[in-house]
Amino acid sequence: MSFLIGPMQKHLNGQKELTAHNEILHVAPQERVYIPLAMGNAKIDVLVKENDLVKVGTQIAARNDHFYVPIFASVSGRVVGIEKRMGQALRPVDHLVIESDGKMTKEEGLSTLSLDADSEAIIAFMKEKGLVGCGGAGFPTYVKYQTDKCETLIINAVECEPFITADAREIELHKEDFKRGVMAMLKASKAKKCMVGIKETKKEMIPQLVELFKDQDLISVCPVKDVYPMGWERTLLYALIGKRYDKLPIEVGCIVSNATTAIMLGQAMESGMPITEKMVTVSGDAIKEPHNVLCPVGTPFSALIATCGGFSKDKVELIAGGPMMGSAVTKDEVCVGLATNAVTVLEYKEIKELNCLRCGQCVDHCPSGLEPVNINNAFKANDIDRLEKLRPMDCIECGMCTYICPSKIEVTEGIRRAKRAMALRMKK
Ligand code: SF4
Ligand code: SF4
Repeated sequence: MSFLIGPMQKHLNGQKELTAHNEILHVAPQERVYIPLAMGNAKIDVLVKENDLVKVGTQIAARNDHFYVPIFASVSGRVVGIEKRMGQALRPVDHLVIESDGKMTKEEGLSTLSLDADSEAIIAFMKEKGLVGCGGAGFPTYVKYQTDKCETLIINAVECEPFITADAREIELHKEDFKRGVMAMLKASKAKKCMVGIKETKKEMIPQLVELFKDQDLISVCPVKDVYPMGWERTLLYALIGKRYDKLPIEVGCIVSNATTAIMLGQAMESGMPITEKMVTVSGDAIKEPHNVLCPVGTPFSALIATCGGFSKDKVELIAGGPMMGSAVTKDEVCVGLATNAVTVLEYKEIKELNCLRCGQCVDHCPSGLEPVNINNAFKANDIDRLEKLRPMDCIECGMCTYICPSKIEVTEGIRRAKRAMALRMKK
């Protein structure tokens, strides 16, 4: 089975100008950081105990199921213990609490890597540094590269969600790291070519990237349409090479990596430091001073919001991620994780749902080629056979069906519920 791809003709007003050019702020050092010890449902082994002293870059834990992923301290200080806090997936998860000594002392003797390294050494380095996808998915990067079937490496610099500019700012600030990371990924993938996908509306950035890679024959900069969700790897891959796949891009000879992930790799190769700091876009219509902010992993959202002047409206909706694909969180105690790229603050507005008009717009605009309205109806009717045929599990939760619905129906939320019900059913 291959995913269908909808028309994808919708250009969204991104409001990226709110943070695209203004100053990048540093979040004031916090007394404590809370490193999320959660990667899906994987078991995490904690390697430190109460009162242990750690530095920035000390390994403190590891995911140890079928994927090994080390987790590192983001500040220097003392381990306080483990605390349950609300995670971005809207469930309480363990967080390792570190009390900062305010010095940000870095771990010494961290291994680096030169571009002369071969494919296996680069993949091993990705694993050692705990590199995960920074585009929101958080999947271990090295796992994708353990293949001999890659012909095309795609670097995703599209960043299609409204408000978010963190990737663009990272590229703007760290071009040499980006180039090093992309070259290393290309080598690791053993692909014949690399395509850097970027929105055609990025008029300033495109020539800069063309210049950056002009001495690299195998790497090309490829502008794509500014439509949503072009940043989804299926749509980007289809736009660039015209192929569709079922589960993974490697089925059609591709690996897709996010631009910031490439930058993080490029930086780790130079400094040896894993991801301990994140650039996060704090934006929306209910934050006083939208900015991109830099903060240690494990910083509570409340500190990011305070750095940006606080809320500008009395009632707000807080979203981990962008307004289309992010998840609404009820508490600002949620902390920045390795894959966090945005906190969106919107004015809370009571929405009155009207009856479905059967207009079919949600069907016309679904990038996965689904029938959102029919999935919702089948779920409400508990018609499991019909639900199975309608493939709710293929939904990428892009939010387009809710966005487009003239009756203001929370269609995406209905699909999420249907997915959860189907997942539970599959477990039985
Ligand atoms: S959220 Fe809606 S539009 Fe997006 S993939 Fe899922 S069903 Fe389709
Ligand atoms: S877009 Fe909204 S009103 Fe139109 S068919 Fe879908 S759910 Fe119904």
